[in-house]
Amino acid sequence: MNLWKENLIKITPYTAGEQPDKTDFIKLNANENPYPPAPGVIKTITSFKAGSLNKYPDANAVPLLRAIADRFGVSAENVFAGNGSDDVLALCFRAFFNSGKPVLFPDITYSFYPVWCNMLGISFETPHLNDSFNIDPENYKRENGGVVICNPNAPTSIGRGLDFMREILEANPNSVVISDEAYVDFGGVSALPLLKEFPNLAVVQTFSKSRSMAGMRIGYCIAGDELISALRAAKDSYNSYPLDSVAIAAGCASLSDEEYFKQTVAKIIATRDRLTNALRERGFILPDSSTNFLFAQHEKFAARDICEYLKTRDIYVRYFSTPRIDNRLRITIGTDEEIDKLIGAVDEYIGSH
Ligand code: PMP
Repeated sequence: MNLWKENLIKITPYTAGEQPDKTDFIKLNANENPYPPAPGVIKTITSFKAGSLNKYPDANAVPLLRAIADRFGVSAENVFAGNGSDDVLALCFRAFFNSGKPVLFPDITYSFYPVWCNMLGISFETPHLNDSFNIDPENYKRENGGVVICNPNAPTSIGRGLDFMREILEANPNSVVISDEAYVDFGGVSALPLLKEFPNLAVVQTFSKSRSMAGMRIGYCIAGDELISALRAAKDSYNSYPLDSVAIAAGCASLSDEEYFKQTVAKIIATRDRLTNALRERGFILPDSSTNFLFAQHEKFAARDICEYLKTRDIYVRYFSTPRIDNRLRITIGTDEEIDKLIGAVDEYIGSH
């Protein structure tokens, strides 16, 4: 008997969107941005002095922290950067949730939260979203070891305003409240204006979605001094250099082109609104999205069947077999051309059934 096998980690990991082993397909299953990063990012990477890679990067990615701080009008002391917001969120869970009491987040939200809790031995409870998939703030007014709110929420695409976050924060002076704002730039409301009032608020954002840099892995947290110090301590107990030198330079380049950023986001919002209408006209039911994806159910056809049919047309959308959402599709907004093909394929499906 190999006893060492008993000591291996037993955990159900997070499942990311499928990455089919082919090149010619339309990928609308991972909430990526269909457009390339800003031209300055591409130039920075192609002209990067690769000879300098013998040296470690700046351990705290200080040039990037300064650029992020400038963009949001905060001090660089209040910014922490990591290898994608997944890395930042995992470190937040490790750094902030040590009370032994259960951390609260909705039953339907980013499915990585329970995985991090299980990995780190953090207990958690998942109050139900109401029937229209909204978070009821009353559920977050009880003793807890922390609160995680994804706003706008994934995969529901529903965003909430500042009053909602204020209500959650006011009810939780003794816990850290994380606002995961991965999709905020597509029409959500950031909790950043509440930072001055609430030293227990941590706002987490990413370059993966609105800045078209999922492959570069840059995420960050903006918060008060104590939370940022705790995050730095957690990082320095785990991986001193989560961001590589290329990512630091490319991140700075992205932030120096706000015009491109705004144009890209505006294009995605326009395509999203067009697709929302097209789907509703075809019998889909879906909430208004504040993100770069839609969360849609058909009044007649099963989501799983539509998803499988779309695959035969080389179009990949996301289907979750999770209770309460197992008849919905999460569809990432692609280019107009990709979305036209999706609508065409949906018409074919409906026409042939
Ligand atoms: N939060 C949410 C809600 C997400 O959907 C994602 C993307 N899967 C992330 C965080 C992590 O994104 P990244 O690590 O690329 O920044």
